[in-house]
Amino acid sequence: MRQPLVAGNWKMNGTRASIKELLEGVKNGMGEVTIAEVAVCSPHIFLCDVQQQLDGSAIAWGGQDVSVHESGAYTGETAGAMLAEFGCKYVIIGHSERRTYHGETDQLVAEKFTAARKAGLVPILCIGETLEERESGITEEVVGRQIDAVVEHCGIGMLGEGVIAYEPVWAIGTGKTATPEQAQDVHAFIRARIAASSQAVADGLQILYGGSMNAGNAADLLAQADIDGGLIGGASLKPADFLAIATAANA
Ligand code: PEP
Repeated sequence: MRQPLVAGNWKMNGTRASIKELLEGVKNGMGEVTIAEVAVCSPHIFLCDVQQQLDGSAIAWGGQDVSVHESGAYTGETAGAMLAEFGCKYVIIGHSERRTYHGETDQLVAEKFTAARKAGLVPILCIGETLEERESGITEEVVGRQIDAVVEHCGIGMLGEGVIAYEPVWAIGTGKTATPEQAQDVHAFIRARIAASSQAVADGLQILYGGSMNAGNAADLLAQADIDGGLIGGASLKPADFLAIATAANA
């Protein structure tokens, strides 16, 4: 039985005041969320505040990226050990916005996965196809390649220590959600791809869906056999919406 996970990706949003209010709202509404795990991935500059506010609560937190390096002359980067020092459990790796705007390759993402694990963090590995790739019929080829890069670099055992988020790029921040059937098809493919290396890892791995998940569509997506939770962007900035998704995951 895989525990559902609902993780918020705040991206580059918020102020110290707004995240305080947001976290108060989420903390106060967690009463019904007893099965699913809830996490928030914050801009790194706010992690000290997040830690202070969430310490001792049931909500986990994490970063949005990690350096492949442990320390040194890498201006603007954040090391895994730094995230761990601020209590992060998770770190998002290979989000499509980083792959697109920062040129992150499958190889770099795989190296970041290893760096996160070395620091004791749980990587949330984002994979997914663009609209052009979907329309060309190569969705499975793309997500297969993205998974294989991590398995080849880290080994199947280490992949199993992370979480996968299937995020069709065309659904992120667009209001266009994959249908539950479309999402389930890709999730089942991902699990089968991993099962080819290890059935035990495939059975235990949490595979989240991400891409315009909201309070209205979450229940249908989360009811799919291979969807184990969500990575939530826009809706994670509103306590009521985020909690509605977490409650749906809890069902
Ligand atoms: C994301 O950024 O990972 C995401 C899924 O965003 P949104 O929910 O806004 O589509």
